Amino acid sequence: MSRFLRYQHYTLPLFVESSLSVRKRLFFVLIILVTIASAKPVLLRIAHLTNWQWTGTYHSHIQTRHKAVALTFDDGPGPASDSVLAILNRFDVKATFFLTGAEMSLEPERTARIIAAGHEIGNHSWSHQALIFRSPVFIRSEVERTDSIIRALGYKGAIRFRPPFGTKLIYLPYYLNQTNRHTILWDVAPDLDLSLRFNPDSLVRSTTRNVRPGSIILLHTMYDSVSASLSALPTILNSLQAQGYKVTSVGDLLKNTTPDR
Ligand SMILES: [Zn+2]
Repeated sequence: MSRFLRYQHYTLPLFVESSLSVRKRLFFVLIILVTIASAKPVLLRIAHLTNWQWTGTYHSHIQTRHKAVALTFDDGPGPASDSVLAILNRFDVKATFFLTGAEMSLEPERTARIIAAGHEIGNHSWSHQALIFRSPVFIRSEVERTDSIIRALGYKGAIRFRPPFGTKLIYLPYYLNQTNRHTILWDVAPDLDLSLRFNPDSLVRSTTRNVRPGSIILLHTMYDSVSASLSALPTILNSLQAQGYKVTSVGDLLKNTTPDR
C-alpha cells in the first residue's frame, strides 16, 4: 500500500508536468505559425519597396544637378528589341537594358546588337523568378550565371542588378553587397500601373508628369503583350527632350551625381 501511494505521489506530478509542457510547446508553435502567417504580407510589402533596401548600394532615383534621366528597359531581349534599338538610335539615346540570362542564351544575336549599339546591359536574373524566400545557392546562381553570359557575349561595362519584380529581402541585398554589385530600381514606371499600361497616351502623360531630374524610368517594351509601351516610346522621348531632359543610361547618369546632404 505504501509503495502504491509512493508510486502515485511520484507519477502524478510528472504526468501533469509533461502534459503542460506539451501544451506549452504547442502554444509556442502556434504563436510562431501565426506570426509567420501574418508576417508574410508585411515581408512582401517590404520586399517590394523601391526606396529601401537593408544593405548595399541601391538607387531608385539619382541625385543630380543636371536635367537628365535614366531610361531602362526590363526583360528580354524579345521580338521587339530591334524596334527599340531603332527608336533609341533615332533619338540619339543610350539606355540601360536589364536582360535575363535565359533570354540572352536564347537570343544571343539580339543581345549582341544591343551591346554593339552602345547601350548598357544590366543583370535581371537568369530565370526571372522572385529572389525572395529562396535559398542562397539559388540566388547566387541566378546572379552569377547571368553576369557570366553578359560577359561571354562581349559586354565590357559595369553590370548593375535589377531584381525581378523589384523584389529583394534578406539574402539578395546581402549577396549583392558582398560582391560589390549595385541594385537599380526606379521611380517612374508607368506600365506597371494596370490602368495605364494599355494606353500609349496615358503612358506618355504619366511619364512626363512624374519625371524629375535624376529619375530612373522603367519601361517594358520587349513583347507584344506590352505593345503600348513600345508605341509610347517615341512620344515619351520626344516629350522628355522637348522638356530639356537628357535621356541616358544609368551608368551615365551616375557619373553626374551630387552627394545627398
Ligand atoms: Zn522583369
